[in-house]
Amino acid sequence: MADTPPATLRLRLDRSALAANWKALDAMSDTASAGAAVKADAYGLGVEHAVPALLEAGAREFFVAHWSEVASVARSVAPGSISVLHGPGSAADAAYARDMGVIPVINSLVQAKTWLESGGGPCHLMADSGINRLGLSLHEVGDPIVASLDIDMLMSHLASADEDSDLNSLQLERFRGVGAQVAHRRRSLANSAGIALGSRFHFDVTRPGLSLYGGVPRGELAGAIRQIAYPQAAVLQRRTIAPGESVGYNATFTAVRETELAVVSLGYADGFLRPRGPGGWFEWQGARLPILGKVSMDMIVVDAGAAPALREGDWLDVPFSLPEISASSGISQYELLTTLGRRFERTAI
Ligand SMILES: *Cc1c(COP(=O)(O)O)cnc(C)c1O
Repeated sequence: MADTPPATLRLRLDRSALAANWKALDAMSDTASAGAAVKADAYGLGVEHAVPALLEAGAREFFVAHWSEVASVARSVAPGSISVLHGPGSAADAAYARDMGVIPVINSLVQAKTWLESGGGPCHLMADSGINRLGLSLHEVGDPIVASLDIDMLMSHLASADEDSDLNSLQLERFRGVGAQVAHRRRSLANSAGIALGSRFHFDVTRPGLSLYGGVPRGELAGAIRQIAYPQAAVLQRRTIAPGESVGYNATFTAVRETELAVVSLGYADGFLRPRGPGGWFEWQGARLPILGKVSMDMIVVDAGAAPALREGDWLDVPFSLPEISASSGISQYELLTTLGRRFERTAI
């Protein structure tokens, strides 16, 4: 069978910037060491590139959410350094954890029982200190079943670390209280934003995700974090339209003069959602090409007037500074990353 022709979308990942981001977050974690949240395929960027780069930089704790995410990460790192945040919801999950040698995060008394019934062994424990998502409630941590767990890392998760909220110190205080009640070897509280809250929040291990990949959830991180993902899309066609002609679904753009267009191979199916259309642009050799009309599933039309030499097959740069695009589109930095589609060819640079 013939090879698949080259992709018309590519996502270039700057591995050295990713390593630099991990090192910066590790240094900001003071005496704690930074792990790495690599769930959701390293926030959409691709574990096959991200995990080896993070390992090389020095990361030794890798967090995924689903059991289905274990195998791809275990290709690059020792299973004992992989933790599964959703925990063992069934005996099958617990059996898989034992088989693979990965560490489950226990999130409830039921999960504690499931893990112990499968034979027990080292695990992490998530205590809920106020986000009311996963984790044991504060009144449950004294349960005898918790005392029979072999807890490596005692964890909790901050709800509002990206804001100056009273909830941050309240959660910190509650987490300290849990630490006094539950036997453990290490403690871990901070995500990316939590690292910027200062050393009281760092404990033994921090768990950055977003900022590894170029996200800036708090101003303090702005100077330290570099962009790592650079999307590019190919031009499929050039055309010229006359004054009065419109572009795209619902004809939301109408040309007032003869206008040079380029049709670009990128759309909302690739994660370029409609709120990024109005006011947005792509770049080619320093020229800005404004987006015209609505974003379609597989195509976006730009004004190519500033790039007379642009040809079909040429690659346009898609601006992807996460804090900037998030501010202008209203889409969160997390969503900008994790909705990047499967049609991008992911390459390391
Ligand atoms: C996703 C996640 C993280 C990483 O959070 P960021 O805000 O992306 O840094 C850390 N801890 C837990 C429990 C998570 O679910």
